[in-house]
Amino acid sequence: MKSSLAGTASSPAPAMPVEDADGKEPDGPMVLARVCGHGHANPPTRAQCSACGAVLLPDAVQVARPRLGRVRMSTGELLDLDQSLVIGRQPSVSRVQGGVMPRLVQVASPGGDISRSHVEVRLEGWHVMLCDLKATNGTVLVREGQPPRRLAQNEMAILLDGDIAELGDNISLRFEEIP
Ligand SMILES: [Zn+2]
Repeated sequence: MKSSLAGTASSPAPAMPVEDADGKEPDGPMVLARVCGHGHANPPTRAQCSACGAVLLPDAVQVARPRLGRVRMSTGELLDLDQSLVIGRQPSVSRVQGGVMPRLVQVASPGGDISRSHVEVRLEGWHVMLCDLKATNGTVLVREGQPPRRLAQNEMAILLDGDIAELGDNISLRFEEIP
């Protein structure tokens, strides 16, 4: 099971934060991590590196948070999880968390199933959370081995690798490489 992960490092993901077009917050959030000899950052609860399988150094250190996987959208778009996302038909944010602006991701909703700001993918520490934004038609979380489940209003769920969120209008998000 481990080998399927190890061989798929398609693009090297530098830990260096990249400055956004809006130019603020050049250094992103820090997390407590255990690193391997190659410098891969892992959640401190891990004993082995998820990228290369090496044993992790015993002491946890503060590092710039690495990418927490990515989102494969049913539209074909692939989004890196290096910042929070607000997804909807006409997304906006009313409240900025920790001074970092989430990325706004607009999706087409010809049937009107999708709310203006439908769902947020929020990064908190090492966790990737799926947060309902009081979407009118809600979001269905599909997890392997479990029946699909509709999020309650304002519910936040911790996402696992391979989870799928269905927003309506045939738009779905698949979460990949979640640590
Ligand atoms: Zn490693």
